[in-house]
Amino acid sequence: MRLSLLLFSTILLISSCSVLKKKNGFADNAVVAHRGAWKAKNFPENSIASLREAIRINCRGSEFDVRMTSDDSLVINHDPHYNKLLVEKSTYQALEAFKLSNGEKLPTLREYLLAGIKNNDHTQLVCEIKPSDISKERGIIVARKVVELVKELKAQSKVCYISFDYDILKEIHRLDSQAFTQYLEANKSPEELKNDGISGVDYYYTVFKNHPEWLNSAKENKITLNAWTVNDSTEMDWLLKHNFDFITTNEPELLFDRIKLQKQKTKKLIWADEFNVNGTPDHSKWNYDIGTGADGWGNQELQYYTNRPENVKVENGVLKITAKKEDYKGKPYTSSRLKSKGKFDFTYGTIEVRAKMPTGVGTWPAIWMLGSNIDTTPWPACGEIDIMEHLGRDQNNIYGTFHYPNHSGINADGKTKKIGDATQFHIYKAEWSPTSIDLYVDNQLIHTLVNSAKLPFNHNFFLLINLAMGGNFSGAVDPNVTGATLEVDYVRVYK
Ligand code: MG
Repeated sequence: MRLSLLLFSTILLISSCSVLKKKNGFADNAVVAHRGAWKAKNFPENSIASLREAIRINCRGSEFDVRMTSDDSLVINHDPHYNKLLVEKSTYQALEAFKLSNGEKLPTLREYLLAGIKNNDHTQLVCEIKPSDISKERGIIVARKVVELVKELKAQSKVCYISFDYDILKEIHRLDSQAFTQYLEANKSPEELKNDGISGVDYYYTVFKNHPEWLNSAKENKITLNAWTVNDSTEMDWLLKHNFDFITTNEPELLFDRIKLQKQKTKKLIWADEFNVNGTPDHSKWNYDIGTGADGWGNQELQYYTNRPENVKVENGVLKITAKKEDYKGKPYTSSRLKSKGKFDFTYGTIEVRAKMPTGVGTWPAIWMLGSNIDTTPWPACGEIDIMEHLGRDQNNIYGTFHYPNHSGINADGKTKKIGDATQFHIYKAEWSPTSIDLYVDNQLIHTLVNSAKLPFNHNFFLLINLAMGGNFSGAVDPNVTGATLEVDYVRVYK
């Protein structure tokens, strides 16, 4: 909760920030939601809702199954039956009479593709063409119709075709030599696929343990690796360790967690201040905001910020920011606000700060970040990540908050977590990536944001640590509070 609400009206545009991190045109992760992301929100499998959810959570792909009705409509359904009617022996009208469990009608392929290409620049549409139970030829006809529709909708670059029927994939390759295809029946080696122009393997995950040689030959032949349907964290870890391009799962959220954990294990310290040298804080790492800012730093705060040792110093291995009750340049309190701007600006990473809070109604310590483009892209369009805020009037309640256009000031996107005793040291942490920003206290999640290219959290930010007194958010200061100190043991940033 920082900076003036008065700035609102001047901010009209979301900043043109760097895009979501991508690989081959899609989100840079291996997560393919099997029949969409349906489980966590109880959506029906293969529904448009589950597809949109997969897009929303930044899956690299979302899988679905295509079948053809007796009157040649292409529909999205996994089983041969839909509500006890055989899809291939029923008209679309007969099937459409039954709704999905969320009230959606049975989607046609056209509707599904249109929903999949709308507002989606990162999730590939993984289209499984089911072989026909009527005849081999009918399966090939389905494939031709699917490719025709994909071309009509200009969705070629968005779609990956998968099938258990090798001839269906070969037909797709014949119709569109650029088409991206993956084979599901694990009876061919990567070399064989390459010779037939098929782009990838998509085999049941245990197959790769029986054919470890396929992992290397896939890489050598530039055949992509996909495994289905992986819902167990141990198996996910094994596939991630072997750099699978895709992992198809009913548990996309779990897979995102495993990816995050794996990255943490390999994370490297890129910047830190351990506050081990007594005296003034390290000039190579910190700048200061001095004075009162405009309108008390936008919040009618009561303190005058200085860099005097009375307000800021390193002592006994900790940074101490002390707010004092004293008349100073027209203000009733002094304090300090450090920032890494111009010394350390960075995009993405894990930020860990070990700190202990003061007490006293009216105190308002914060550990937070602002977009380094704030001078040219004013708040809130520059973005703000409040890793930790604490209010003396609400002792032991930790606030984790994001500010961005349409979600700032009193409408900010925040949550809180109550902890035992904030005057003891706790670790405040942000895990910031192109797909999410998670805020923690002692590894308990306070709040999470689904990050995307549309949000202003994909460019450089800088760190701030301060102790404010009073102001809009904090409220009136108890007149008995004459001094209060925020202590920080370390700040560490990993990537
Ligand atoms: Mg399928």
